[in-house]
Amino acid sequence: GYQTRQNAINAVTNYKPIDKPLNFAETSPAEIYGSNVFSDKVMKNMLPKDVYKSLMATKKSGEAIDSSIAGPVAAAMKEWALAKGATHYTHVFYPLTGLTAEKHDGFLAPDGEGGAIAEFDAKLLIQGEPDASSFPSGGLRATFEARGYTAWDVTNPAYILENPNGTFLCIPTAFISWKGHALDKKTPLLRANQAINKSATRFLGLFGTDNGEMVVSNAGPEQEYFLLDRNFYFARPDLMVCGRTLFGAKPAKGQELDDHYFGAIPRRVLAYMLEVERELYKLGVPVKTRHNEVAPGQFEIAPIFEQANLATDHNQMVMTILKSVAKKYGMACLLHEKPFANINGSGKHLNYSLSTPSQGSLYSPGDTPHENMQFLTLTAATIRAVEKYGKLLRAVVASAGNDHRLGANEAPPAILSIFLGGELAEIFNQIELGDLKGTKAKGMLRVGVDTLPPLPMDSGDRNRTSPFAFTGNRFEFRAVGSNQSIAGAQVALNTMLSESLDYVCDEIEKLTKGKKAKLNEACQKVIQGIMKKHGHVIFNGDGYADAWQKEAKKRGLPNLKTTADALPVLMDKDVIEMFEKYSVLSKDELHSRCEIYHEQYNQIILTESLMCAKVAKTIILPAAIRYQGELADTAASIKAAGIEPRTTLLQDITDKLRDLQESIVALEKLMEKDNFKSVEAEAVYKTKKVLPAMLAVREIVDALEGVVADDLWPLPSYQEMLFIK
Ligand code: ADP
Ligand code: MG
Repeated sequence: GYQTRQNAINAVTNYKPIDKPLNFAETSPAEIYGSNVFSDKVMKNMLPKDVYKSLMATKKSGEAIDSSIAGPVAAAMKEWALAKGATHYTHVFYPLTGLTAEKHDGFLAPDGEGGAIAEFDAKLLIQGEPDASSFPSGGLRATFEARGYTAWDVTNPAYILENPNGTFLCIPTAFISWKGHALDKKTPLLRANQAINKSATRFLGLFGTDNGEMVVSNAGPEQEYFLLDRNFYFARPDLMVCGRTLFGAKPAKGQELDDHYFGAIPRRVLAYMLEVERELYKLGVPVKTRHNEVAPGQFEIAPIFEQANLATDHNQMVMTILKSVAKKYGMACLLHEKPFANINGSGKHLNYSLSTPSQGSLYSPGDTPHENMQFLTLTAATIRAVEKYGKLLRAVVASAGNDHRLGANEAPPAILSIFLGGELAEIFNQIELGDLKGTKAKGMLRVGVDTLPPLPMDSGDRNRTSPFAFTGNRFEFRAVGSNQSIAGAQVALNTMLSESLDYVCDEIEKLTKGKKAKLNEACQKVIQGIMKKHGHVIFNGDGYADAWQKEAKKRGLPNLKTTADALPVLMDKDVIEMFEKYSVLSKDELHSRCEIYHEQYNQIILTESLMCAKVAKTIILPAAIRYQGELADTAASIKAAGIEPRTTLLQDITDKLRDLQESIVALEKLMEKDNFKSVEAEAVYKTKKVLPAMLAVREIVDALEGVVADDLWPLPSYQEMLFIK
């Protein structure tokens, strides 16, 4: 412990800036931003006019790709990449592990005459074939075929990754089985984007605001992470292997003082952040905001929102770069949802909206009654979706890591409710009560039939405890884990909302058919119906309070506390029906996902439990025994000197050592079971039996940390890890 601490302190005190930091006097924003991206601008310059136009049509309006353009695009891409110094190209894809996967191929190809050329053509651009057998498929490939392939995602740009160890071209791709089954995170997202475009366009058509534009879903993910000195990281096998500490007593000073939040950023961290930003600027990731977070050692980086598919790729890049740059600065970046017990965990707030180029966010309350009716109806459809499929939203963020946030005493709770803010909630209440002319102070908020005035929104009224909160012109889904891909949440949101918008359209059309009712009246009627049936999902109070748990139960809102509770939702009849109806995920695909996510959960808990037992046995126990020996020796010497020693401490250590050994044996006994009838049953067992047994070991270890001599304690403490930076 001592040497590690000294090394870490030296690393902090001797820290010198590594590179010259980015400055905009020498490198203009225009020069650096997107400089490693095969961007629209680059393509415009390099591609034949008709090819460029055809590609843009596919990107902007979702038209099917004209396959004849792949040849010229590949040629331009190759020329550009080689000029940038690339030697290899890689199809980048996003398997269900949530990670980013790459398969590298060299541009170099022998010419058959002893020489070589740089080779890259349409075929190599459009399709790649990674060795898919090592990626989880949940039985899909076994059932249908043996291989999968990667398919060029035309909608996101290719880019160059340059680093001191080599430079290569990256091509974003979807990962699909030969029968067309999705094996990745991107494929369903592309499908869900199509679904929401279709349903939202129909919806806008009712209001006469469908201008022939695409409706896109947007995402602005706020990424939280922890940083700690690398010396500590390597001295904590639990952190290295599991990404979280399995042991560690609560520090004397935690986050109670809140003095870290928005405080000055430590200089090494500041340099690190700037380097992260420099790398991300080059890749065209519009990172904008950086600050300290609530917990000591915790930080956040947020980009400007982008269309969902691009934002998802970009968030994967953000996670990769956060981790790789940390090494360079002598630190480790932790993306785990709960690296430290009793200290705030890390999430990813997913800011979500739908927009069209001319209308902007469809969640922006407008300036005219007409716009406002569209906004209110869309919001009502969202309320309906979150109530109807709240359990699905919970399921898509289920993971071993995220369980330590959701369902534990932390933000946000596992109960999916919606926060609307006082003003907006009031309007919906009025509509529900049929009091459509209800007025509030000074003519504000008059929800008259044809006289909806501008809605003043109290977006400043921020509820921090709600998992799904309206924040002025978007919803913020706060239950996503820091380590998770944001794709799953967006796939769910887009599909749920497609279903809800179609419901709303059906109802409105029924009411307005043959001019029976005016559009406004019809909308109000539909909203009223939605509020009656689904309005109980709205909750503007404190989501952390115990009272809410009881209240939510009364309202019949599900409270799926653990991954084992939540994942089976993927196989619920209504969920399957919805995904199939919108051709986002088939029953087989859902089944394979359900299977894989369970396996992942089980694997993580298995690894954690092995690590827990091992560290307790081989690191903690020996240290405590040494201290016990020291105390016993001292007691013997004192006694030999004729003084009666006080042995309470020795007794205490001895008791704790016995408890520790017993708890380890109990854990190992539980870990022996391996005959489960399903992955689901195994997950339940691990949640209910193994995790509590691990916690029991931890409790004793943490108590020992409070009594064993500091110079004998082998693991860096929370105090050290969180505060030396
Ligand atoms: P806060 O911490 O107050 O929530 P941040 O600035 O950290 O705000 O993050 C807000 C995120 O929401 C940013 O990524 C921002 O680009 C994004 N955002 C803003 N407007 C929209 C919108 N209409 N749709 C989606 N995301 C949005
Ligand atoms: Mg924020």
